[in-house]
Amino acid sequence: MGEGTALTIGWLYPKLMSTYGDRGNVICLERRCQWRGIPVRVVPLDRETPADAFGQVDLLVGGGAQDRQQEIVMRDLQGAKAEILKEAIAAGVPGTFTCGAPQLLGQYYEPALGQRINGLGVLDLVTVHPGPEAPRCIGNMVLTVTAQRLAADLRAMLGEVPYLIGFENHGGRTRLGPTAEALASVVKGFGNNGQDGTEGVFYRNAIATYSHGPLLPKNPFLADWLIQQAIARRTGEPVILKPLDDCLAQQARTALLARHGLQEAIALP
Ligand code: GLN
Repeated sequence: MGEGTALTIGWLYPKLMSTYGDRGNVICLERRCQWRGIPVRVVPLDRETPADAFGQVDLLVGGGAQDRQQEIVMRDLQGAKAEILKEAIAAGVPGTFTCGAPQLLGQYYEPALGQRINGLGVLDLVTVHPGPEAPRCIGNMVLTVTAQRLAADLRAMLGEVPYLIGFENHGGRTRLGPTAEALASVVKGFGNNGQDGTEGVFYRNAIATYSHGPLLPKNPFLADWLIQQAIARRTGEPVILKPLDDCLAQQARTALLARHGLQEAIALP
C-alpha cells in the first residue's frame, strides 16, 4: 500500500474516551503497522470532526469513559455521525471498543445517576449501572475466546487460541441480546455482568470488551488480526502479516497468567 493509501485508524473521542491507558490500543496498532512498513495514520473522530470522516476509516478504536464523558459523547454522536459510524461497523470495518464504548454502541446505557442514554444499537446489548453504592467490577481478567470465527482465525494464525488478558473497571452490567455472540468466556474476573460468565461481544469485525489492559499490547495477536481484516477489506485479498518479535509481550503474559496459576498454551513469535 502506497503513502496515499495509508491505513486510517479512526480514534473515537480521544479527549473524552481513553481511561486506563486505552490509547495504548491506538499506539499498538500504529506501531505494528509501522514496524512492518505498512503506511498508517491516526485520525481523531471528535466533536469538531465532520460526520463523513467517521466513515473514511479502515480501523476503529473506542476507549472507555466515565458516565459524565459518555453523556457528552452521546450528545455529539447523533444524526449523520451516528448513522455513518453504525453503517461502518455493520459493514465490517474492524475495530476494538472498550468498556464505555460498547455500552454506547449497544441499545442503551443506564448510568449510575440520571437518565437512560440511548446507544447506537449496532451491538445487541443493554447495560444498566446498579447505582453509585453498588460495588464496581474491578480487577485483572483472563478470558477464553468463544467467538467462533475469531477463535478459528487465531487458531489458524497461531496453532492455538491464546488467553485474552486484561483489566476491568466498570459499574455497568451488560446483558447480551439474542442476536449477540459473546467475545469470550470469563476465566478470571467479572466480564459482562459477573453472573453469566460471558465477556464482551463479537460482531462482524468488531471486538467489544470490558477489558482495558490496554487490550492490544497485552494480546498483540488481536492487533494483528484487526490489521489483517483492515488490509483484506482494502485490497480484497487475504493477507499474511510479517511476524514481529513479541518476546517482551510473551514474558509479560507469562508473568500475568502465572498470578492466576495459568500457563500460556502457545508461544508467541
Ligand atoms: N461508565 C462506565 C461504567 O462505569 C464505563 C467505565 C469505563 O469505561 N471504564 O460502567
